[in-house]
Formats: sequence, structure tokens, C-alpha cells
Amino acid sequence: TARKRFGQNFLHDQFVINDIVDAINPQPGENLVEIGPGLAALTEPVADRAGHLTVVELDRDLVARLQQHPFLSPKLTIFCGDALKTDFRQFADAGKLRVFGNLPYNISTPLVFHLMAQLDIVSDMHFMLQKEVVERLAAEPGSKTYGRISVSVQQACRVEPVLMVPPGAFTPPPKVESAVVRLVPYDESPYPVKDRKALHQICLIAFNQRRKTIRNNLKQVMNDEQLEALGIDPGARPETLSVADFCRLADWYSTQQETHE
Ligand code: SAM
Repeated sequence: TARKRFGQNFLHDQFVINDIVDAINPQPGENLVEIGPGLAALTEPVADRAGHLTVVELDRDLVARLQQHPFLSPKLTIFCGDALKTDFRQFADAGKLRVFGNLPYNISTPLVFHLMAQLDIVSDMHFMLQKEVVERLAAEPGSKTYGRISVSVQQACRVEPVLMVPPGAFTPPPKVESAVVRLVPYDESPYPVKDRKALHQICLIAFNQRRKTIRNNLKQVMNDEQLEALGIDPGARPETLSVADFCRLADWYSTQQETHE
């Protein structure tokens, strides 16, 4: 039976499973890593095509099942642990990682940020997420769902929504709609930024109160004149600023911090 605290909603719809595996398009020799294999709905078809993959699963009972699986276990390197605390660098000896997973929704946003901090070893990611989270990842400036996660992720990755998945594709069905998204880290970002941590920080401050102006949110950090010098209208709402605007803010912010050290 599924465990709620582990965010367990197991995929059973064979059409949806096929579509996801086709979207991933796993090949022999690739360094595939699955987060939360569960009962192996995606693991098995991926292992069939790729021959081998690494899985990270928190639930010990599910790990034991995978270890005892006669056909599957020889194709797997199994890690029992919390993906949020996993250093994915340890898997990167065999080349850049192709990360995928039907993520537990309770930790999906922190997990995306956790991987954003290790992007240099990632070649792409395919995640099943709550539909709203996929909308936020893909949101354009000016839209209601555009926010901190849109800016941070779009600075570093191409974001491609892949397919929508209804609750009935899972056992038990989740209360929300789901969607699969592909994130491909840029070799060279169209939005270069000196320090990605500074971007995360300035976004946290800038979006702290969405209904307020950028001037108000950033008043502890900079004044109108400094905003205008970066080509940003101090009276604008944070969600109307482009990714490039936030990158200029981040570069300014990291220079400030250097001079304060
Ligand atoms: N991949 C399976 C499927 O599609 O049917 C299971 C998906 S289920 C939504 C999420 C899986 O992630 C469960 O197997 C759960 O035990 C596992 N999980 C939950 N929290 C985790 C964590 N922090 N680290 C690794 N795995 C986790």
C-alpha cells in the first residue's frame, strides 16, 4: 500500500508510462538516474531500453523489493536514501547524468532547487510534477504564475512541458493534475549571470511580496536611482521583470556584496 508521507502515487497507466519513457528516450551507455523508482513503473521500461540505471529511493521496503527483483536488480545500482540530501556528483563518474522521476510532490520544489545547484553534471531532467509547478517553471514574465522558480530555472535551463497527466493514471490518484516537464541545462545560457547564488538571493527578496513594487521589495538593497541605472522601473511589480532584468540585478547585487566583504 502507498505511503502518504513518502508522497507515493504509483503510475499504472501504460499509455502514460510509454509516453514518458519515449520522452526520455533512454539509450544504452547513458548515465541515467531515477529519483523515487517506487514499484518500478518507469524503472523497468527504462532499464529495458538502457540496460542499466541508478535509482535513489527513500522507502526501505521498496528498496528491498527492487533488490529482490530477479530481472530488474542486475540492471540497477540502488541507493537507499533521501534524494534531497544526495550528492548527485557521486554518480557522475560515468558521465553527465540524465535525471528523471515521478517526484514526490511534497518535496518537488526543493528537489528541483537541489539539482539546480549541481547542474554542471546534469545533461537533462524529466520530472513528473504537479501541473501548477510545471506552469511556474515555464511561466513568462507578466503571467500570474511567474516567480522565483521561473527565473532561477529559466536562467539555467530550457524548459519544455512534455505532457499532462490526469489523476486517474496513478494509484492512489493524487488530488491535483500532474504534468511532465523536460529541463535541459544550457551549455551557454542566453542569460549569463556572474553568480547563480546571487540570482537566487535577489529573486527571494524581489518576490517576497508579489503585490508590492520592485522598489518596495528591494528597498533594503538598492534605491530608485540604482534600479533606473539598470533599466528597471522602480514602480514595476516583480512579476513583470524579465529573466535578463533579474540577471542584471543579480550581477549588481554580487558586486555590492564583494565590495562589502
Ligand atoms: N516512480 C514510481 C512511479 O512512477 O510509479 C513512484 C513515484 S511516487 C510519486 C514517488 C516515489 O519517491 C516513491 O517511491 C517514494 O517512496 C519516493 N520518495 C519519497 N521521498 C523521497 C526522497 N526524499 N528521496 C528519494 N525517494 C523518495
